[in-house]
Amino acid sequence: MSFLALGLDPKILQAVQEAGYTEPTPIQTAAIPPIIAGSDLIGIAQTGTGKTAAFTLPILTRLAATIGDGRQRGTRALVLAPTRELALQIDENVRAYAKHLPLKVATIFGGVGEHPQINALRAGTHLIIACPGRLMDLMQRRYADFSQLQYLVLDEADRMLDMGFLPSIKQIVRSLPQKRQTLLFSATLSKEIEALTHEFQHQPKIIQIGRRANPAETVTQLVYEVPKHLKPALLGHLLREPGMNMVLVFSRMKHAADRVARNLEQQGIRTATLHSNRSQNQRLKALKDFKSGAVRVLVATDIAARGIDVDGISHVVNYDFPMHVEDYIHRIGRTGRANAIGDAISFVTPEDHGELRALERFIGRGIVRKRAEGFNYTAGAPAYNPAEDDRPPRQPRPPQRSQQRSQRPQRPSQPHGQQNPRSPQPRPDYASNLSSPPARPFSRPPQGGGRPQSGGGGNRPFSNRPPVNGNREGANQSSFRDRPQGGQGRRFGGR
Ligand code: AMP
Repeated sequence: MSFLALGLDPKILQAVQEAGYTEPTPIQTAAIPPIIAGSDLIGIAQTGTGKTAAFTLPILTRLAATIGDGRQRGTRALVLAPTRELALQIDENVRAYAKHLPLKVATIFGGVGEHPQINALRAGTHLIIACPGRLMDLMQRRYADFSQLQYLVLDEADRMLDMGFLPSIKQIVRSLPQKRQTLLFSATLSKEIEALTHEFQHQPKIIQIGRRANPAETVTQLVYEVPKHLKPALLGHLLREPGMNMVLVFSRMKHAADRVARNLEQQGIRTATLHSNRSQNQRLKALKDFKSGAVRVLVATDIAARGIDVDGISHVVNYDFPMHVEDYIHRIGRTGRANAIGDAISFVTPEDHGELRALERFIGRGIVRKRAEGFNYTAGAPAYNPAEDDRPPRQPRPPQRSQQRSQRPQRPSQPHGQQNPRSPQPRPDYASNLSSPPARPFSRPPQGGGRPQSGGGGNRPFSNRPPVNGNREGANQSSFRDRPQGGQGRRFGGR
């Protein structure tokens, strides 16, 4: 199949050719014609499948016919995305595909000055890419006029719901014209997503590309079993191998990301970091340096790296094994994008074996174990160094209220390692434009066959390991055992 057969505007075809795309990806082949024909659409697809072009190219084709010479203003298309990184990525794609059109494009997200965004809204910019928090804020202050809006895209809708954006999304969508075309993309089709599609879409077509638990076929997955104290040395060792030229390393915690990066810099390996403690400018610079090759390694946390679209990542390294299958799928989807080939390497310590087995069950196959040639697996653990400790500093204990407590009825004591439900929860790394975090607690699996205690959304916790009580990012996500259940609601194939 060629792009020529999809009915795209010639100026957009030209831009696609200039981007070097020779043929459409499966989701593009399936989605572009119905979108051009005016259908609402649900696209169930992972990131890395070419889904951004799948919705952008047909919208631009339709806009090309209506914006004339571009002088006629009015916002026609709105794309909602969960994070500013993804918003910027979409913006970059839109600009590339629309380079021969007189189309005005703007992004709206928190953490940066609002004036250019207000000006863009007031100017009736044709296509706006926005994170829901900041957009909601500006809409409430009446800066936006969406009366001419024709196209709405909800990108990574599952992620937006996970991040607690549902109330903002509902408010935003309710204030848009009823007569519009609505496209929704999501890696998963949960009951909540189905509810959204019922509310916002009209007889949508459904396209499902690949299974949610099926990482890109072009990614080679490998596991390196390693004791925890040898992870820094193993990373340094592997990075000496030829071919590891653009490496994205994932850690669970922000301070651990900094420590890994420091360690690599000490070994002479140029490294940048991407996590929520870094300013927007630092994050953009890190991405720019990584893309340009100025740094060879980027160490990132899950939420910060969500949606980053960097071509040519040769390897993804799960320095810390992910706690959730979505994290695994998203992490390794950063390599092998759009049919490129890549390796995904996971470091697995003895403590990670439970999660690894659960992941293998979920993806329905084992992952190849590999040993690093020439690496000393028997080196001892270094002496304890507080500066190298991953754990956040201990908080001072609150004043004892022993008298009050002694009057309360006794509760059964908790087994060792089980999380006290009243202890502070990890603070996820939501985009800074998120005004309120989701109210979905991270709960433990039911013991002894009881009912799940999940805080909502049907996500069932699985791990026997208690959640890390630090600042692990993105804690409110479904687990490896959160496999979609048969018989619940509509099924659209897949598992
Ligand atoms: P996405 O799934 O939208 O994040 O896209 C993943 C990557 O694939 C991006 O870097 C796109 O530039 C690239 N891409 C999208 N469509 C194609 C195509 N038809 N051929 C080659 N690369 C593509």
